[in-house]
Amino acid sequence: MRHIAIIGSGPAGYYTAEAAQKTFGDDVRIDVFDRLPVPYGLIRTGVAPDHQSIKAVSKRYEKVALSENVRFVGNVAIGEDVSIPELRGLYDAVILATGAPRDRPLGIPGDDLGNVFGSAAFVGWYNGHPQFAGLDPDLSGKTAVVIGMGNVALDVARILAKTRGELAGSDIVTHALHALDNSKLERIVLLGRRGPHQIMMTPKELGELGELARAAPHVAQTDLPPPEDDAILEPGLRKSVSHLRAFAATPEHIRAEKPVEVEFVFLSAPRALLGTGKVEAIEIEKTRLVHGQAEGTGAIERLRADLVVSCIGYRTSPIPDVPFDERAGRFANDDGRILTGLYCVGWARRGPSGTIGTNRPDGYAVVEHVAEDIEQGMLGRAVKQGGEGFDRLAAERHLRVVTFRDWKKIEEAEERAARDGAPREKFVDVEAMIRAGD
Ligand code: NAP
Repeated sequence: MRHIAIIGSGPAGYYTAEAAQKTFGDDVRIDVFDRLPVPYGLIRTGVAPDHQSIKAVSKRYEKVALSENVRFVGNVAIGEDVSIPELRGLYDAVILATGAPRDRPLGIPGDDLGNVFGSAAFVGWYNGHPQFAGLDPDLSGKTAVVIGMGNVALDVARILAKTRGELAGSDIVTHALHALDNSKLERIVLLGRRGPHQIMMTPKELGELGELARAAPHVAQTDLPPPEDDAILEPGLRKSVSHLRAFAATPEHIRAEKPVEVEFVFLSAPRALLGTGKVEAIEIEKTRLVHGQAEGTGAIERLRADLVVSCIGYRTSPIPDVPFDERAGRFANDDGRILTGLYCVGWARRGPSGTIGTNRPDGYAVVEHVAEDIEQGMLGRAVKQGGEGFDRLAAERHLRVVTFRDWKKIEEAEERAARDGAPREKFVDVEAMIRAGD
């Protein structure tokens, strides 16, 4: 029997568990750990609350979680409650699927001002992540600046722009819904340091911005390259750019029917945030493209900014005893291998890119490495204690482990507490989650 510990119960974690089951069949026992008492990581706290169809993939993970040789081990922080060397002593393979939950810092003067947030914090706030539920952003100003032109920036801008009616079927947490109800925002700026041909937004997600009840996207015709230049773009990006063209072509009187504008500002790099205590403005430097990269022109402008959310990417959280690549912001690894018997997968391996589905082949690839390493004798004989050894350690340390069965009770309580039309009302507090699972 081989024992595998997977750290992190998000998409990368469960696809890896699925791959391990398929590869090793009955000859494996798999423990999927999470620091929270609830599973699914990014699906629960990252994917936008109004994208329920994407969240439905958790049903597939549940199937894996409910199979006999897989356990969910919630409310255990690896590197704090139990160390990596301890886990490596207990399991044949330890696979880190911890994602990239930290914001890449903006690193400009004023980024510590009030009402300036990274997307991990801001998305965590409206998605009820216990760490960020108390964020309490001030939405009483008129202008929000969302930095970055990726799908996370789109999520944030869309959630800020939507009406209560548009959020009805979502699982946005009630504290965020109330705050958005009282929002005074009239202008949401999407700020890109490069141009329309360099956006990272995918077509379906960008298209949604054109269908909002009270908000309209604004793109200046003069910001767009000549249409014939789109021919060289790969098809997905070409489609996204065609959305920008449609937004730009919408007559002003139609756009003006909607009270909130979502304005695209291109070729503008953030240089400083200004304000006393709380952010009031953003200083940008206009850029030009040199070999596809943004280069400052020296022209400085100021935009009003009562709220700033930077959506410029994420970093993996380091774990003691695991080599870390500071520059790349993820574990130091060679195609998923870190040390003998220690691996990483998903965003923790490759950085924050790709869709949820990208993690599936990633999970299968890392399990293939484990199988190769077993075959070549690198992981020794099958003598590890696995979950039984972990349970002894957890009992000695009085850890309050949350099982999948406990999670199902938490889930039922969340479903019972749902607002009309919503799928669930999430607990945003770890203690409340644990109590509901008891
Ligand atoms: P992303 O796609 O990498 O976009 C990051 C954006 O931030 C880029 O526009 C980038 O500009 C900009 N940026 C980076 N550093 C900057 C700086 N210092 N100053 C100004 N701008 C800066 O990342 P993401 O939006 O966080 O998304 C992460 C991944 O999750 C992506 O693969 C995304 O597709 C995926 N995702 C998917 C969905 C969905 O499918 N519905 C939803 C959310 C996220 P440059 O290009 O110039 O570097």
